[in-house]
Amino acid sequence: MTDSTVADAVLRAERLVKTYDEGAGRVEVLRDVSLAVHAHEMVAVVGASGSGKSTLLHVLGLLDEADAGQLWIAGQAATGLDERSRSRLRNRALGFVYQFHHLLPEFTALDNVAMPLIVRRCPRPEAREQAAAILDQVGLSARAAHFPGQLSGGERQRVALARALVTQPACVLADEPTGNLDRHTAAAMFDLLARINQDLGTAFVIVTHDPALAALAHRRFYMEAGVLAEHTETAG
Ligand code: ADP
Ligand code: MG
Repeated sequence: MTDSTVADAVLRAERLVKTYDEGAGRVEVLRDVSLAVHAHEMVAVVGASGSGKSTLLHVLGLLDEADAGQLWIAGQAATGLDERSRSRLRNRALGFVYQFHHLLPEFTALDNVAMPLIVRRCPRPEAREQAAAILDQVGLSARAAHFPGQLSGGERQRVALARALVTQPACVLADEPTGNLDRHTAAAMFDLLARINQDLGTAFVIVTHDPALAALAHRRFYMEAGVLAEHTETAG
């Protein structure tokens, strides 16, 4: 592989293997998974429950380590790094959205979104200014002073998305971000992800159960028993 192909991808995985030792035996959760996500790209990963999708996102997101294979994030080799370097690369290049929003209930929407910047020792006024700008991007300016308990499910997920975006990551990894929403709200959330992808150029890897939502992504991958395959449509 040449350096340029690595640099061109915001995320590249080559033959990732992940195995869990269970009481009953070994479970191969990722089997030679390879994937490249390019800048500005939105890819969907679809698959049955238990097929390994969350494990894949954890490994791609440097929250868990593969047993074998190689990984590059934003052009930097991510395999064999110590925990500190992994955290630094994760914080610099990646954002996360989960099925449940994980917002802090005692903070306003604005302060939840500002939190990742505060944690990085960004001065509070500047953090709030950037948080307000990104809340505007997700259409929630009017809800900035609300607490999570005062927001609808869809609004909370939009705040969670804003929080993932506030550090301007090259790629956002989203694990069933619409899994807890009704169909209509889920569709609106997916439209928003597509618009953010277009407007900000953020790459997305989105795990979803819903084939209709996956259809909105640029490319679709299917996970089956730890094997990831790209679905290539043929016209007609
Ligand atoms: P999905 O997100 O597609 O539902 P997961 O990645 O969560 O799938 O899980 C894939 C498989 O790995 C499942 O069989 C699950 O039981 C197993 N698994 C996940 N995490 C662990 C763990 N920490 N220890 C043992 N087995 C695990
Ligand atoms: Mg999962």
